[in-house]
Amino acid sequence: MEDNNIKDNDELLEEVGTDEKAQEETEETPTKKIRYCSICRRPENRVGRLLEVPGGMFVCPDCMQRTMDMVNKSDFSNMTLPPNMIVGNMDDPEELMKEIEKLTKGSGATFKIDPVKKPADHKAKEKPKKKEPELTLKTLPAPHVIKAQLDEYVIGQDRAKKAIAVAVYNHYKRILAPVNPDVEIQKSNILMIGPTGCGKTYIVQTLAKMLKVPLAIADATSLTEAGYIGDDIESVLSKLLAASGDDVETAEKGIVFIDEIDKLAKKKNANSRDVSGESVQQGLLKLLEGSVVEVPVGANSKNAMVPLVNVNTKNILFIVGGAFPDLEDIIKKRLLKKSSIGFGAELKDEYDHDTTILSKVTTEDLRAFGMIPEFLGRLPIITTLEAMSENMLAKILKEPKNAIIKQYEALLALDEVKLEFTDEALEIIAKKAMEKDIGARALRAIIEEYMLDIMYEIPKDPNIGKVTITADYLEHKGGPLIEVRGQF
Ligand code: ADP
Repeated sequence: MEDNNIKDNDELLEEVGTDEKAQEETEETPTKKIRYCSICRRPENRVGRLLEVPGGMFVCPDCMQRTMDMVNKSDFSNMTLPPNMIVGNMDDPEELMKEIEKLTKGSGATFKIDPVKKPADHKAKEKPKKKEPELTLKTLPAPHVIKAQLDEYVIGQDRAKKAIAVAVYNHYKRILAPVNPDVEIQKSNILMIGPTGCGKTYIVQTLAKMLKVPLAIADATSLTEAGYIGDDIESVLSKLLAASGDDVETAEKGIVFIDEIDKLAKKKNANSRDVSGESVQQGLLKLLEGSVVEVPVGANSKNAMVPLVNVNTKNILFIVGGAFPDLEDIIKKRLLKKSSIGFGAELKDEYDHDTTILSKVTTEDLRAFGMIPEFLGRLPIITTLEAMSENMLAKILKEPKNAIIKQYEALLALDEVKLEFTDEALEIIAKKAMEKDIGARALRAIIEEYMLDIMYEIPKDPNIGKVTITADYLEHKGGPLIEVRGQF
C-alpha cells in the first residue's frame, strides 16, 4: 500500500513538472501568490482550493482524502505526532471527521471515511481460545481409572498400560501435591519397548488427551547435537511449547514422547565420533533429568532471529520408545549364560519359543544393546509391549471406541445404510495385516482398499439398506451382501 502511495506522489510531481498551462498561469498573474499542496506539490489552480491545516501547511482535496483513507485503514494507536499536526483523535474516525469538517468549512470539498475495520479490531474481536481446565490433584484420575480409560482405546498391552498408569499417576502427584522438603520423589520417565505398530505412540497420545496435558512427539533419528544438520535436541521442547500455545507454564507440565530411541544406540566398534547416536543420548540427559533450557520459539534450532524462552524440564514427563530389534537375542544370551553356570543347566533352546522373553529385559541388556548407563539411569520405568497377534488385530478393527470399522459404520449410517463385517472377514483382514509385519499400522490401508468401492457405489442407490462385507468379497470371489430396505 505504501509503495503505491509513493509511486502515485512521484507521478503527480512529474505531472506538475510538465504542466505548461500551470506554468503559464503562474507567469500571467505575477502579483497573485500561487499556493501549492504541501504533499503533492501541485498548484492550487490545478487541484482545487487548498485546505489550510495546523502547522502552516496546505493540502489539496485529493491528498486529504488519501490521508483520511490511510488513517482509516491503519492502526495509529501507538503513533505520536507533533502537537501541531494533530487535527483530531486518530483512533476515533467520527471525531476526526468533525475536526476535518471544521478545517475545510467553505472549501466546497467533501470527504468521507469508509467504515473499514482496522486489523487491530479484528484481533480484539477474535474469540478468546478456550483454555483446557488444568489438571489438579483433585481431577487427577487414580491408576485404575487411567488404565480403564486406556482400555477403551488400546487393545491388549495390559502390563504396559498398568505400569504407565501408575507411573503417570505418581508423576503428576509429585508435581501437583504440596512439596515435602524431606523426601524428594524421583522423576518417573518411562522407556517403552515394543515392535512397530503395537501401540506405543497411541498409548501416549490417549494418555495426554485424557489428562488434557500438552504432548510433543519427536523422532530420535531426526535429533542431532547443536551445530549439526538436523533438529537440535531442544527442538522437542519447542514442539511442546507450540502444543501448549506458547504458554511456558503449561508446557512445563506436559509430556514429551521420543520415538525410535533404539536408533541412538552406541555403534559397536565405531572409531569415529558418533554424531547421531551416543552424543544425542548424552545431550538428552539434562532434559530427562530436569534443567532450565533455552528454547527457540517456533523453530527447530537457535539462531539470532529466533526468540528464546527458558523452560524448566523438571516436571515434564519424558516417555521414550523403541522397537529394539535383536534385544531378545541379548536377553536369551544372558539368561542362558546364567542357567549354564547353575546346577540345573537348562536346555539351550529353552527360550526359543518363549513369547514373554522381552518382558525379562534388564538395564544390563539395554546397555549391551548400546544405550549408555547414564541415559538408562534417568528412565526408572521400563515396560515392554507385546507384538500384535492376529486375534489382537481383529479386535483393534472393531472394539476400540474409535475403531476403524465403527468409523465406517458411522459414515454409512449418515446415508441410513447399515454396515456389517462377518467374523471371517475380520479374520482375513487381520491375517493380511500380519503378513505386512508392521503391526496395527497395516490395518487402515488394507481396509481402505476394500471399502473404497463400497463407499463409492452405495450412496448411488437409495434402496440399499444394509451391506455385509464377507470373506468372499475380500477374496475377490464375489461382491458384498447387499440388502434392500425393509428386507432385513
Ligand atoms: P508404535 O508402537 O510404532 O508407536 P502406534 O502406536 O503409532 O505404533 O500405532 C499405529 C496405529 O495403530 C495407532 O494409531 C492405532 O490406531 C493402532 N494401534 C496400534 N496398537 C494398538 C492397540 N494396541 N490398540 C488399538 N489400536 C492400536
